[in-house]
Amino acid sequence: MLQKKMYLNGEWVDARSGETREIINPYNQEVIAIVPEADVEDAKQAIKIAREAFDNGEWSHLPGAERGHKLFLLAEKIEENKQELAELETLDTGKTVTESIADMEDIAGVFRYFAGLADKDGGEVIESPIPHSTSMVVREPVGVCGQITPWNYPLLQAAWKLAPALAAGNTMVIKPSEITPLTTIRVTELMEEVGIPEGVVNVVLGPGATVGNELAESEEVDLISFTGGGATGRKIMKAAAGNFKKIALELGGKNPNVVFADADFETAVDQALNAAYFHAGQVCSAGSRLIVEESIKDAFVKELVERTKGVKLGSGFEEDTEMGPLISAEHLAKVERYVEIGQEEGAKLLVGGSRPEDPELQNGFFYLPTILDGCTRDMTVIQEEIFGPVITVETFKTEDEAIELANDSNYGLAGAVWTNDMYKANRVTRALRMGTTWVNDFHPYFPQAPWGGYKQSGIGRELGHIGLEEYQETKHIFQNLDPQPVHWFTKK
Ligand code: NAD
Repeated sequence: MLQKKMYLNGEWVDARSGETREIINPYNQEVIAIVPEADVEDAKQAIKIAREAFDNGEWSHLPGAERGHKLFLLAEKIEENKQELAELETLDTGKTVTESIADMEDIAGVFRYFAGLADKDGGEVIESPIPHSTSMVVREPVGVCGQITPWNYPLLQAAWKLAPALAAGNTMVIKPSEITPLTTIRVTELMEEVGIPEGVVNVVLGPGATVGNELAESEEVDLISFTGGGATGRKIMKAAAGNFKKIALELGGKNPNVVFADADFETAVDQALNAAYFHAGQVCSAGSRLIVEESIKDAFVKELVERTKGVKLGSGFEEDTEMGPLISAEHLAKVERYVEIGQEEGAKLLVGGSRPEDPELQNGFFYLPTILDGCTRDMTVIQEEIFGPVITVETFKTEDEAIELANDSNYGLAGAVWTNDMYKANRVTRALRMGTTWVNDFHPYFPQAPWGGYKQSGIGRELGHIGLEEYQETKHIFQNLDPQPVHWFTKK
């Protein structure tokens, strides 16, 4: 069993109170680690350290290329240690090692991307309407950043925040989800090895309501970046109002997967499964809302049901496992309840809808992949994020109806369109009110492309060039170059 600590000012420390928390493997409920459980006082101390490191430290004044160099080294370290990191992520989350390895490769890519950007944005010279003057727009770090991450992609979500914040020259306090802190701790050890200066990145471990809230509320924090559920996002916005800190919110999704009759049938079926069951559906962009053209619906759903029955549940460490457990007993109960509500409101259960009977899986938080047919837009399972391996089925007859159904949500994170008619694909993707749309694919994302939501899926964007800008202030510098500038009060 691992014994880990928090990272404050370059030192590995316990919580001041001495409190600890057990970290549980969702596959078998075994305790895999003991970590400190911080409280508000620890969070305040971490913020103070980050403030001091920003105000008086060297990091924000280093040339971008030097910060970038450290991030390149970190990316290399992550590659070198990807097997170990991936296994840790699988122990902590239950996802398959194959998925975790892919996460680690993506994470290395995220650090490389922002490493490359660190010295690319020198600002710009703009035209000044005032004679004999120069006008420049420069980018500066925001300051102290609070970063709060969820449990579904613990290290990937941390990387999306750490990499641009570091590249831009900020200092930070990161709080991983209290139930999945292990890879964030491990990558902090790697940051120490590559020489990220003390005080620049501080890691506090503890509950959202206390430690997370302090990061959102503190007037010493200049920016709060949060990934998680909408209810928490609302609390963070309110807490952040005191000093009007910058806010970046990556929230949930209820993502439509729109299949037209002219799509490639086999590929669309295959990807509908991938869209919804990847990481047991615990993905903000999971394609859980299948919206399929009526003329192919019966054949499409029949095939989906057959393939769903064959999905192999098991340990993330087994090579043939396709789906691991859900993250916790609490979350499993939530998913079960949603499927019950769906049926109470009139949806028809076609497959799944329960925990598996396999005796091998009884200690884990497993739930069978599930399909609910006959869903309508007013149902709870269509409007609320289930965050489990559940596909809801709706049908449409016309393109306009497909667009209307797809957009009928408070969320607007991502969605896909399946068709061989590229004109139609273009019309539909342009009409979708979502931050990311895919044509004839589901899930691809990469550091070069921005990620974030319309509507209640969030505020701001991560990744891409815009992901760096989230962590920068913009300053206009006007320089008069005329020894006798003309102003209204000197004008003759
Ligand atoms: P959550 O909102 O319960 O928790 C997320 C984080 O917020 C945790 O670290 C938690 O400790 C902290 N937190 C909880 N209460 C807080 C408070 N009052 N103040 C400050 N921090 C607080 O979310 P979760 O259950 O960990 O994650 C699942 C959610 O995350 C889903 O809704 C999912 O869609 C969303 N998500 C979104 C994206 C995206 O890119 N849009 C990515 C991953 C997950």
